Amino acid sequence: MSYSSNYGAPGVPAPPGTLYNTANSTSTYNGSSTAPPSSSTYGNGGSSYTSGTYKNSSSYNSSSYSSSSRYGNDRGVDRSYDDRSRRDRKEYDTRSSSYRDRSPTYDSYGGRDRYTSSSYRPGGSNSYSNDRMSNLGSGLVKQEWDFSKLHKFEKNFYREHPNVVSRSMIEVEEYRKFHDMKVFGRDIPKPVETFEEANFPAYVLKEVLDLGFKAPTPIQSQGWPMALSGRDVVGIAETGSGKTLAYCLPAIVHINAQPFLEPGDGPIVLILAPTRELAVQIQQECTKFGKSSKIKNTCVYGGVPKGPQSRELSQGVEICIATPGRLIDMLESRRTNLRRVTYLVLDEADRMLDMGFEPQIRKIVDQIRPDRQTLMWSATWPKEVKKLAEDYLHDFIQVNIGSLDLSASHNITQIVEVCAEYEKRAKLVKHLERIMDQKDNKTLIFTGTKRTADEITKYLRQDGWPALAIHGDKAQSERDWVLSEFRSGKSPIMVATDVASRGIGMIY
Ligand code: ADP
Ligand code: MG
Repeated sequence: MSYSSNYGAPGVPAPPGTLYNTANSTSTYNGSSTAPPSSSTYGNGGSSYTSGTYKNSSSYNSSSYSSSSRYGNDRGVDRSYDDRSRRDRKEYDTRSSSYRDRSPTYDSYGGRDRYTSSSYRPGGSNSYSNDRMSNLGSGLVKQEWDFSKLHKFEKNFYREHPNVVSRSMIEVEEYRKFHDMKVFGRDIPKPVETFEEANFPAYVLKEVLDLGFKAPTPIQSQGWPMALSGRDVVGIAETGSGKTLAYCLPAIVHINAQPFLEPGDGPIVLILAPTRELAVQIQQECTKFGKSSKIKNTCVYGGVPKGPQSRELSQGVEICIATPGRLIDMLESRRTNLRRVTYLVLDEADRMLDMGFEPQIRKIVDQIRPDRQTLMWSATWPKEVKKLAEDYLHDFIQVNIGSLDLSASHNITQIVEVCAEYEKRAKLVKHLERIMDQKDNKTLIFTGTKRTADEITKYLRQDGWPALAIHGDKAQSERDWVLSEFRSGKSPIMVATDVASRGIGMIY
């Protein structure tokens, strides 16, 4: 089976079960490259964490969010938040004086840590009994939650914009129908049709408008009010539809309304993603939009040394974007903890389950307080994802954009060829001859297994084709190198397992 694709779309999904995916891209492999970001922290000159000033007021204009205090020393003037903040902070004050005074090592707060080495083994669903995954997370202690001792937190920040209030349900239904949007659950807020209607704080709105975006994508227009209202949310929309911002902007609002991080605190927002590449893309968005609020983030993924990631974590970050395995590692070695997490995102949930992360996801989520807000995003809605949502989301509301059984992008022309096993290689070469005939074209070939990826690469190279392989068994440094060779066009054929599938449109 082969696909011929035109990569004009922002994100190009992996065709499920496809053996060869050849992509013909004459015009779009130029800008928008995602240079690997420097690590996440903002050099804000050692300034302390500024106070959140999100005013939970009932007025509708954007001044209900005070942005001024996010800058420099001009602390918030919003009394209501300050009072609340001070009140909440008392609970933390017993631990140490101020963030700046803190000892550099997290371990000095070890006395509070409940992640001891006694074993916690979740029920028998672990399918990784024969590899190192089976022990991963065995050092995590099952959490018991005493709600009377947990600090209170706010998660409902949504105030409907007057335009939205005045919109009739008939208009709302028309808008949803036009955007192929279906919603499920009780008390679902109406979609917003413009950025202004989402009632984001001015500093967030400015960042969005500066990017030149014209209007929210459908998943954003329905997803923002859902997420801002503090409910558990499931959002299903195809790759490239803007899901990242759908949860990132509400995450920033959420963080700004919480008390400061204190020494020894872990992140407030945890975003789980299946691959390093995706985690880095998410980090770039968080960095862009969190900048004005001095929100720090870090990205935690395997295949690279733990030291730098661990240092960033222990310095205190509001947002942690992580792949499941490395995060468990960090939790077990007490480099961070999830006690402050009140906003949990499972991004690319379907892909994470496809990649076998379910046991790890469950171990991680079991470490987070159950009254958190949980948001799950996915391109498809198979029964495994549904089960995960039912197990971990409470009274959730859901939005689906487009047809549920379509996981492929509508912006790609797909050509399916059915052939016998022995015909595949000859057909592949025939396609390559046609595609690579044109200057600057590139080809991505997806394979089902790492072994096939290596075999095809070898086969093509012997035949003189400039092919390189990328898959999960390759060291991270090699994966980076292969991606950069492909991106620059030095090696215009890349053979990949689905480690590179989601969000691949962003790598050019
Ligand atoms: P998904 O997670 O659904 O695959 P992404 O969040 O990665 O999609 O978004 C794909 C691209 O679309 C990104 O480059 C992002 O910056 C861009 N984008 C997001 N929101 C908008 C918008 N409202 N208007 C235009 N482009 C957008
Ligand atoms: Mg995404």
